Amino acid sequence: MRARAGTVVLDAGHGGHDPGGIPRQRYQEKSATLDIASRVRARLQAAGHRVIMTRSSDVFVELSRRVSISNRAPSGAVFVSIHFNSAPNLDAHGIETYHYDSRGAALAEAIHRQVLAATREEDRGVRRARFYVLRYNKRPACLAELGFLTNAQEGARIYRSSAYRQQLANAVAAGISSVLR
Ligand SMILES: [Zn+2]
Repeated sequence: MRARAGTVVLDAGHGGHDPGGIPRQRYQEKSATLDIASRVRARLQAAGHRVIMTRSSDVFVELSRRVSISNRAPSGAVFVSIHFNSAPNLDAHGIETYHYDSRGAALAEAIHRQVLAATREEDRGVRRARFYVLRYNKRPACLAELGFLTNAQEGARIYRSSAYRQQLANAVAAGISSVLR
């Protein structure tokens, strides 16, 4: 167990005065991201991994600070940012996972696969994006968008069911564990 243990930087998106999402959406992003990140942390720690959180309460953390926390982590660490999607088109739904470089791609693929299998939500693909927390990250990094809070069905599933949030967290943790091995 100990030989396999790795370090994971978990980044709960948004926080404090930045709620995430789009104006007037019913379900707030920043609380859902922290809920999932906390559940992922518990799961990873139980498996013997070390977890560093960029935030563990409802506070605002600059993107540059999130990245510097990751860049100071041990060289074998991986970085996973947790988000939920929002769109003016209320029909939009499903899971998408982002990476910037090839080192993040394997991590993104592993998490994406696990989350799709656990949720059976629509596959919106693994995509490359120049998001700040990915682009300036020195560790393998990915950003998971775990469903649309603006979609009535998906939003309700995420917000009203702690069992579903635990399923999401278990899937994210399983994806991370698979690349740490
Ligand atoms: Zn977000």
